[in-house]
Amino acid sequence: MRIHAFHRLYQHRLAQSTKPFIARGSKVERCLYCQVAKSNCLCDYQPDIDSDIAVMLLLSDNEVFKPSNTGRLILDTVKEGYAFQWHRTEPDPEMLALVSNPSYQPIVIFPDEYVEDEQRLIPVDSIGPQGKKPLLIFIDGSWREARRIFRKSPYLDGLPVLSVEPESVSRYVMRRSDNAQHLATAEVAALVFDQMGEQHLSATLAAWFDVFKESYLHSKSRSKSDQQRPVLQAFIEATETRSRSSN
Ligand SMILES: [Zn+2]
Repeated sequence: MRIHAFHRLYQHRLAQSTKPFIARGSKVERCLYCQVAKSNCLCDYQPDIDSDIAVMLLLSDNEVFKPSNTGRLILDTVKEGYAFQWHRTEPDPEMLALVSNPSYQPIVIFPDEYVEDEQRLIPVDSIGPQGKKPLLIFIDGSWREARRIFRKSPYLDGLPVLSVEPESVSRYVMRRSDNAQHLATAEVAALVFDQMGEQHLSATLAAWFDVFKESYLHSKSRSKSDQQRPVLQAFIEATETRSRSSN
């Protein structure tokens, strides 16, 4: 299993905090990396695929401690990943350096209806033309927090914004049975990757999200831990089939 920036931020915040953040369902003893019950740990199945994009998560205050967080799943799937704690007046210098690094094309992923300056909105095919690596910035928190972060971060103001196409969202929501109104951060990322033509990355992340959701819900219920997890089984089989055919 690959330890990444989200895990490091989690450990860092944990070491800093004087009073522990009590998440709901905190009676469950969770794996510190995948955040499902230890008996259901998914770390061995973390995806191992390569891609030519980088991802940066900007996390709201206690988001890193929420077991239900899904931004973490994006960094499980995209190997070049960064995770920063959002701060309005004292932004992380490393984050600022990354955003202004000329090797990258930083792009904020956010719904267009909240973008006042329409000139900031870019079409998906304008990504990566100058040979720069796309750096996709996801604001990870509750919807209310995400809007606040988007509005109150001067260092994001000058950056282009890519919005998820409403058609692809509705196609996606229709395909799912739970009919959720707001997509999880990992679901938004899977849609963006799909729009960018990164189908394998998109499908892997969407499948990994389903695997997480299954085991997360499994951890909450009091059912026996030896119960089957069909989504995980299918994920393992698909991964094995792919690695066999590429050998
Ligand atoms: Zn784990």
